[in-house]
Amino acid sequence: MNIPKGTKDVLPQDSHKWQLIENTARFVAGVFGFKEIRTPTFEHTEVFLRGVGETTDIVNKEMYTFLDKGDRSITLKPEGTAGSARSYIENNLGEVLPKPLKMFYITPVFRYERPQAGRLREHHQFGAESYGSGSAYADAEAILLAKYFLESLGITALELNINSIGCKSCRAEYNGALKKYLESRLADMCAQCRERFEKNPLRILDCKNDSCKKITASAPQTLNFLCADCGEHHKKLKTALTACGVKFLENPSIVRGLDYYTRTVFEFISTSIGAQGTVCGGGRYNHLIESLGGKETPAVGFGMGIERLIMVLESLNIPIGEELKPDLYIAPLGGEKEYLKAFTLVKELRDKGISAETDIAERGLKAQMKFADKIGARFVIVLGESETLSGKAKIKDMQSGNETEVSLKDISGILTVVNS
Ligand code: ATP
Ligand code: MG
Repeated sequence: MNIPKGTKDVLPQDSHKWQLIENTARFVAGVFGFKEIRTPTFEHTEVFLRGVGETTDIVNKEMYTFLDKGDRSITLKPEGTAGSARSYIENNLGEVLPKPLKMFYITPVFRYERPQAGRLREHHQFGAESYGSGSAYADAEAILLAKYFLESLGITALELNINSIGCKSCRAEYNGALKKYLESRLADMCAQCRERFEKNPLRILDCKNDSCKKITASAPQTLNFLCADCGEHHKKLKTALTACGVKFLENPSIVRGLDYYTRTVFEFISTSIGAQGTVCGGGRYNHLIESLGGKETPAVGFGMGIERLIMVLESLNIPIGEELKPDLYIAPLGGEKEYLKAFTLVKELRDKGISAETDIAERGLKAQMKFADKIGARFVIVLGESETLSGKAKIKDMQSGNETEVSLKDISGILTVVNS
């Protein structure tokens, strides 16, 4: 039996990488005062239709939507924000908890895409969002959190790209100018962009098709159409980032793939993995809560793909944590007496938080020593008949080869060596 196309197992020999990334995410989010939210893997399809937006690639092509046995239209999460926004409204979090409310999530995400490097049908995202502040400081804080996280993992070869796509009012004027520019060039654009032209022309700037890209390279830029308030917001963000020593590139082609963005949009792009180089994308979404039926609530956040993050770390040869190795392996040699002694010693050591192993397969000494070596045990004790009788054994440091004699009467001697 095979794994479904576009999905991946995280195998035991790799799971420590995921644990490190998730632990780092939880730690950094905590440092920034963001609390974890966990929402279901599936939602009513409506949440994404209205939340993510009907003109997005996600809703148009990529959603895993099905009817459940009760004939309800259900969709597997194609991103993390709409679900947490739904929960924010449903649980009245804006009133129940102190505002601004800062939350983060770590979640699987499902998109029906053509699988390729860095593009899966199930991937995972770490995201953070802050609800209830329209200030540029909230934008700056989200960016700083993402940066702190990426740097904590050792990634520094990153470019922060920022842009502002304005609000509803300046967007209208901009859309007019963009449409005017694109109108005469539509014939050379992809079918999808011709459709976007009517529904959401801004999305054309995000097209990955080469001929569309060529055309949009000289298109009017949102930054030149910002209203006074949006201009001020953008300036404030840049000032805050600069004051914190954060370098950024103002990139007018960044518009993000989702419909809910307003004003700030940003991406952290790795300069080391080629085409799928965006490891983190985010921005402000001041109308998302409203579009899901809640009260007007400004919000800002980001999402980042964990698989792509691992690709970046690996391409940069940055170690991602280490596999857990036992402190001690106790090899019983003989019969039930020796096995029971080893087994109870290991139990007592584990009670003290020592990672100890013994033979649970009743194998010969040679096989046991091979196993102890493979699992990377730091110390080894061979516990034979004479050790059981004398109550003394040698504990061997597998790196230096040094041996120390310890008593087996209680675990204190072993503890001293293992903790040294
Ligand atoms: P792309 O332009 O590569 O399709 P996107 O705009 O669809 O990305 P977002 O919806 O902003 O991406 O998702 C946030 C992050 O999730 C991306 O920056 C990327 O790291 C990751 N990501 C998105 N789609 C996939 C996928 N199919 N497989 C793996 N990671 C993904
Ligand atoms: Mg995409």
